Amino acid sequence: MKFIFFGPPGCGKGTYASRIAPQLGIVHIATGDMFRAEVAAGTKLGKLAEKCMKAGNLVPDDVTIKMFKKRVKKKDAQKGFILDGFPRTLAQAKELDNMAKIDLVINIELSEGIILEKALARRICEKCGNIYNIADINRNGIKMPPLLPKKEGICDKCGGFLVQRKDDNEETIRDRLNIYRRQSEPLIEFYRKKKLVRDIKVVGPPEVMVPKIMEILKKR
Ligand code: ADP
Ligand code: ZN
Repeated sequence: MKFIFFGPPGCGKGTYASRIAPQLGIVHIATGDMFRAEVAAGTKLGKLAEKCMKAGNLVPDDVTIKMFKKRVKKKDAQKGFILDGFPRTLAQAKELDNMAKIDLVINIELSEGIILEKALARRICEKCGNIYNIADINRNGIKMPPLLPKKEGICDKCGGFLVQRKDDNEETIRDRLNIYRRQSEPLIEFYRKKKLVRDIKVVGPPEVMVPKIMEILKKR
């Protein structure tokens, strides 16, 4: 089975994909994670990706497609995959069309107000990377309880200090949301014409959303 998880940055698609893919015995392919690994390894591609990511821009299509093709050809991807963060442009979607037959696109919807509130409330352990969230959202039928550490500002797992990620600031988040609206959202029409889209609204935390998405995928 080959699925695309589509949605704005901060909608939770990475979390859902990382939990669902193992349950289905398929791989989770996240181009954002792949770029971050290249940055960490200090490769030429990493240096280019870092520049784009810092500026809040997309990495150019040619290098993104090349990296994705290499990944999707690997043996572990032959049984199926969940794509998270790819395709993000029409050019990428058209390339993907020539490479694989997609079974379903899950279009994950969450308002920009809540995305912003959640991102600004995210805290990350500077030592081990564990994630917390201090926002307590309960409005318009959306319930997202906070994910608090036992002791304020201190990681439960390792005792490290909790900090905000550099890119979790209002300006950067708004930039990423604008790029999503301009460059990525139009893709949904491309897939709607193929009758491949299922829309799902985020109404709760991953414990609520993962089973809902699983149900849709299993029917397929
Ligand atoms: P988010 O969903 O929070 O924006 P990702 O981890 O998916 O984060 O992506 C981080 C960054 O990596 C993006 O802002 C972009 O610069 C780059 N990136 C990831 N996937 C793609 C892609 N398919 N095409 C171009 N750039 C990408
Ligand atoms: Zn920690």
